Amino acid sequence: MTRKILVTSALPYANGSIHLGHLVEYIQTDIWVRFQKMQGHTVHYVCADDTHGTPIMLRAEKEGITPEALIDSVHKEHSADFAEFLVDFDNYYSTNAPENKELSQSIYKKLKAAGKIAIKTIEQFYDPVKNMFLPDRFIKGECPKCHAKDQYGDSCEVCGATYNPTELINAYSAVSGAAPIRKETEHYFFKLSECEDFLKQWTRQGTGTNKATLQGEAANKMGEWFENGLNDWDISRDAPYFGFEIPDAPGKYFYVWLDAPIGYMASFKKLCADKGFDFDEYWKQDSTTELYHFIGKDILYFHALFWPATLQYSGHRKPTKIFAHGFLTVNGEKMSKSRGTFITARSYLDHIKNPEYLRYYYAAKLNSTMEDIDLNLEDFVARVNSDLVGKYINIASRTAGFINKRLEGKLQPSNNNPLVTELQSAASVISTAYEEREYGKALREIMRLADVANGYVAEKAPWVMAKQEGQDALLQQVCSDALEMFRLLTLYLKPVLPNLAGYIEAFLNISPLDWSDVSSSLSAQHAINAYDHLITRIDPKQVEAMTEANKENLQATPTIAQASSTPVASLPEAEYISIEDFAKVDLRIAKIVSAEHVEGAEKLLKLSLDIGEETPRQVFAGIKSTYDPETLKGRLTVMVANLAPRKMKFGMSEGMVLAASDERGGPYILSPDNGASPGMKVK
Ligand SMILES: [Zn+2]
Repeated sequence: MTRKILVTSALPYANGSIHLGHLVEYIQTDIWVRFQKMQGHTVHYVCADDTHGTPIMLRAEKEGITPEALIDSVHKEHSADFAEFLVDFDNYYSTNAPENKELSQSIYKKLKAAGKIAIKTIEQFYDPVKNMFLPDRFIKGECPKCHAKDQYGDSCEVCGATYNPTELINAYSAVSGAAPIRKETEHYFFKLSECEDFLKQWTRQGTGTNKATLQGEAANKMGEWFENGLNDWDISRDAPYFGFEIPDAPGKYFYVWLDAPIGYMASFKKLCADKGFDFDEYWKQDSTTELYHFIGKDILYFHALFWPATLQYSGHRKPTKIFAHGFLTVNGEKMSKSRGTFITARSYLDHIKNPEYLRYYYAAKLNSTMEDIDLNLEDFVARVNSDLVGKYINIASRTAGFINKRLEGKLQPSNNNPLVTELQSAASVISTAYEEREYGKALREIMRLADVANGYVAEKAPWVMAKQEGQDALLQQVCSDALEMFRLLTLYLKPVLPNLAGYIEAFLNISPLDWSDVSSSLSAQHAINAYDHLITRIDPKQVEAMTEANKENLQATPTIAQASSTPVASLPEAEYISIEDFAKVDLRIAKIVSAEHVEGAEKLLKLSLDIGEETPRQVFAGIKSTYDPETLKGRLTVMVANLAPRKMKFGMSEGMVLAASDERGGPYILSPDNGASPGMKVK
């Protein structure tokens, strides 16, 4: 039976480049879509840039361009990256499209008519300088738990605590730096709390792993959310905001997460207009088509709660299934700019060139769960070289030459080789694995079969036959059977390696492989084309160069934190220290008991510092150019008390005093405020 399937990947935010973390999902989805298309099903794969919200508005402002110009240029970049990684969308659109505006507003009106919209007055942080309400991510301040500075309004990156922005100590606007004030405003809410019965029923729809709407882990997560009770969902934001205005509510805009998933529909609507497909057939309440959303586990809340409820109460069909995946780690750790493992799609292409190597590696690691997957760069090189070059391509490179050079390019398969039959009969195991998104399992089976084919070639040793008289017929049969096995392996790998499969189809002189071609075979007297080197090994040096280049990038261009396109520049990750790092430095208030010149020293003064210990510390400080020692006596300053003692030309230095300087002058030592006394800890 031919299925009608609509598939989506999550919408990347139009505020940054596609990186290897993003690509896990697009590659995962694309493999599944290509597999379904090979089955002969009708499949539409749509996606779009997610373009609305405060970060985009502020970034455009900072760059001195309109938000439309910003999202246009990002759309071009994203589209090019996806195309090069062979992610074959049927339509890649934008949430800032007329179709999306119309759909968002009509869905909102239906929700309102269904009594699911409430208006509530809430109090929010407001930037009195910039004259705008501030999203949580744009309020910073001191963490109420660990007191780390410059933490976001929703969570602390140092200790991991989550809290409300109201709990921040000394909060400030990340946009203007001003202290935010509290201000009342009317917001529009979707009454999610009234959707609980529907959502519980929807989650439990179907039985068994294959039929369930959600993966087991995701369903468990839903259970936790239900236990805590569902809150109404705030779907509005106040002007200024880059988004769609709410009908009959001047100055109120849809929150970006309201119109983002509707962007799936809008992208499909555009495809329908272009290709003449029936939009309603896929989205009407009683649709018999299938709808699948591939997402990261971090946005499950939006896709498993808000989205199905939005669809239900606006009279639309619900997703058939939601497929959540885990995050990407590189070399076992979070992607890191300092280690050079925060790698953009473009940087990968510049260094490794072949996108199919990454597709293959990700596929080998992917399964149907929400577990994180690790890109181990050493393993990446080893696996691509051994599986793709050493096993798979090797079958053709060891046999095609004999057919081409000795046998006029003509095949003569045996037709009853049990190993060929073994490869054919693996089709159902492999297709089940693809269908269930158990790509790792599929590739393990395919590589097992590649071993079978290689074992056959090694055992028959065509290179020996080629040297013997009268063995041409056998040589032709052995090489033909090996190439038939190679054809089957190519078919099985095609969802993962579509480009390579295309080259091989040309080499084998066959039409594009579909899944049904498992049961056909290369026939007698079929002529193949000349064998060309199909792929080459990855040199580990390419990977090294890639990580080095990403480290260099970091030094060349100081980065601004993604969420805040603001005057408050953030340090690159490499240059942050944790609160624990800071706590290692023991800073003390010190009283300068005495200060004197050091004979023979150009810059140094010898200080005797009281920090409440039995005897004062002796410290040599390079402050002679700014201070007359007499004026320092009796002053309080700040010293590092736990710096390892250092033997200098003039004696031991048992610490360091802090002083400020740059090209404008200095060094100037620090003075504590009234009330500080010798030995007090500075923290
Ligand atoms: Zn904290």
